[in-house]
Amino acid sequence: MSGLIAQNIRKIRANIPEDIRLVAVTKTVSPAAMREAYEAGIRDFGENRLQEALPKQQELQDLTDVSWHFIGHIQTNKARKVIEHFDWIHSVDSLKLAQRLNSLAKELSCQPKVCLQVKLLKDPNKYGWEVQNLWADLPKLELCHHINIQGLMTILPLGLSQAEVLATFTATKQLAQEIKQKYSHLPMSELSMGMSGDYLLAIQAGATMIRLGQIIFGVRKI
Ligand SMILES: *Cc1c(COP(=O)(O)O)cnc(C)c1O
Repeated sequence: MSGLIAQNIRKIRANIPEDIRLVAVTKTVSPAAMREAYEAGIRDFGENRLQEALPKQQELQDLTDVSWHFIGHIQTNKARKVIEHFDWIHSVDSLKLAQRLNSLAKELSCQPKVCLQVKLLKDPNKYGWEVQNLWADLPKLELCHHINIQGLMTILPLGLSQAEVLATFTATKQLAQEIKQKYSHLPMSELSMGMSGDYLLAIQAGATMIRLGQIIFGVRKI
């Protein structure tokens, strides 16, 4: 067991550009294993469930130079806790949630960094904006001045060919650029895309953040 996590991280790092932010996705992963990842250089942890993440953050509070990324769907009533405990929110998937986060950020005097979750291919199993709905909501999203809209996040449906994966990630990057052209004051420079199975293609298409779980920590049982 011991050393495997560090080895995995070293292997991944050797194959990707240095400026890619490697978010270690630690859902179901123990704090001990997270410490091992930290020792191997990880400074970004991604979690998708608040109930699981908060106790682990407590246990790891001595790691003060870590950024915490929330990557799961957020119910409106959990938004406050997410803002309070995470530096990044990748999974802003509706106007209602964005507006809720915006008013909480104002109240708490913070400026959370967020990505808008989009799905360029129809996928009933995933949250996120379809492209035309995102364009419709952007005039209102633009008014959410207290959240820092850093870019887009996407999760691809299963079962695509490599060519389809690359094409869809590339289209996501193009969408971010088109949004930037129209809404020039939105940062829109980050692309959170790529998981264990497709991160190299995501980087090829311009990902700036990749979210890797199983390729670092081993197969998840749940
Ligand atoms: C679980 C998860 C990941 C990581 O997936 P792996 O296949 O373990 O790399 C990435 N992004 C999100 C949103 C996830 O929920």
